[in-house]
Amino acid sequence: MMLLEIKKFILSRILGRKYYRTGHCNACGKCCRQIYVKHYKHVIQDEEEFKKLQYLHRFYTYLKIIGKDEIGLVFECTNLDPVTHKCKIHKKRPGICRRYPQEELFSMGGALSDDCGYKMEPIISFAEVLEKIRKHNINSNP
Ligand code: SF4
Ligand code: SF4
Repeated sequence: MMLLEIKKFILSRILGRKYYRTGHCNACGKCCRQIYVKHYKHVIQDEEEFKKLQYLHRFYTYLKIIGKDEIGLVFECTNLDPVTHKCKIHKKRPGICRRYPQEELFSMGGALSDDCGYKMEPIISFAEVLEKIRKHNINSNP
């Protein structure tokens, strides 16, 4: 419990995060089949722009375009084994895959798949927000 509180503190106060990750990966492979790429503040919409990005990070060299939707270009990772749904480079997978999911997902308009084993929990729960408001009101109106 104490470790969780420390983790929440670091995430929210030091890293400015609003969510923390719970659960575990059940290796369904869904997040490797529907990928959006965010560069700085925008989601990549254009194939030419994506080709330039491929020089920047090895992760991008793994991706192939499979479509486009209202969010942006949709990619699939070529390292995903189509039969086992497992990552073919699991031990050497990039950090971005190790850290998935992160809350940037929400800022891109994305979401976790329904059967993803992870959940993104708000660091400050609704009950805690209510409690803070209640205490604030008591202090303001003694
Ligand atoms: S490198 Fe592996 S874990 Fe990362 S997106 Fe590709 S298949 Fe998934
Ligand atoms: S969608 Fe979730 S459970 Fe499925 S492979 Fe990705 S992280 Fe793991």
